[in-house]
Amino acid sequence: MAVAEWKKELTDNFSETVAWRRHLHQYPEPSFEEIETSLFIKEKLEAFGVDEIRTNVGNGYGIVGKIIGKHPGPTVALRADFDALRVTEEVDSPFKSKHAGIMHACGHDGHTAALLSVAKVMAKHKDDLHGTIVFLHQHAEEVIPGGAKSMVEDGAINDVDVVFGIHLDASQPVNHVFYTYDFGSANSDSFTMRIQGKGGHGADPHNTHDALTIGSQIVTALQHIVSRLTDPVKPAVLSFAGFQAGGEANNIIADSAEIKGTVRTLHGDVQQLIETKLQTMSQSIAQAFDASVEVDYMKGYPSIQNSSKEVDRVKETLLNTFSKDEVSHLDGSMGGEDFAYFLQKKPGAFLRVGAKAKDVAVAYPHHHPKFDIDEQSLLRSGEVFLAIIETYLTK
Ligand code: MN
Repeated sequence: MAVAEWKKELTDNFSETVAWRRHLHQYPEPSFEEIETSLFIKEKLEAFGVDEIRTNVGNGYGIVGKIIGKHPGPTVALRADFDALRVTEEVDSPFKSKHAGIMHACGHDGHTAALLSVAKVMAKHKDDLHGTIVFLHQHAEEVIPGGAKSMVEDGAINDVDVVFGIHLDASQPVNHVFYTYDFGSANSDSFTMRIQGKGGHGADPHNTHDALTIGSQIVTALQHIVSRLTDPVKPAVLSFAGFQAGGEANNIIADSAEIKGTVRTLHGDVQQLIETKLQTMSQSIAQAFDASVEVDYMKGYPSIQNSSKEVDRVKETLLNTFSKDEVSHLDGSMGGEDFAYFLQKKPGAFLRVGAKAKDVAVAYPHHHPKFDIDEQSLLRSGEVFLAIIETYLTK
């Protein structure tokens, strides 16, 4: 059976896959600056004998590779992102980051190595394939506007029938595979408010418009948006993350204030309602106290919407490939992911693969300086990609 042969080769190549991941981990590059990383990927794809390679796809260093099967059939795209974060690594390992202040703290090094390992195997098995595999090596997932949207606009998935992505999840046990129906991530927006009052002497409040107390009223009142104004069966998060005002001295009333936060929603109507209420409520409050406010609302990545039909199809293969207790459903998170843009264009799904080592009780979260993965998850990710290929491109 062809698929068994692919899996054997993937397993045989595992130590090489780990070496690639460690190399990427040691030389991380932040979003939109992944010059060496993209070169590394391109050279590997060339060496494997991938049929077509496009570089500089989209607004950065995106790469699209193609393996064209011997037999006609559908086209399946597989995505791995490859950017790192501006985090100073605190994990001591022989392959600790050599780039000061930059770290692969979200597992994108693992995504990339796993997808490369699949390209290496499949480039040798074009005869088995009924269709085409598109490898989406995506730059800049971590920083708005991200790379995915521009890769889509640059035609990366024009000829694609279905698209899949995998994300490692350090909070879940290694070797476990998770699928999610419907919403996989949230619309991830952010906002900044600038309140302009009138500063003055702390003993003379009647001659001022205190930006600090006005800002406090706004922060308090806006708690009502999610608790009183949005439909309770439609998830929404409004979190304030910063409030700066005054502080020069004990007796100076703040002239201005700046408030920052994030808004997470799954539904477009809720997103719109919160944006509108952020504007109108804060303006009414500021006006009531003779101050003014400017609200800068920045839309981020849209929410991931998995296609039930594709989740059903792949789930069946996953359950046939792995033991039953290793494959399960996981609710979507209120995090943000620009894989959403691929799914806006084509059906598909975003899967998660557990990466928490067995001897770790509670893992450090993604983006933490001590973030770490169990490298066994790279093999499992490769196996999941193979299961997707098996689902669509074998007869
Ligand atoms: Mn990530």
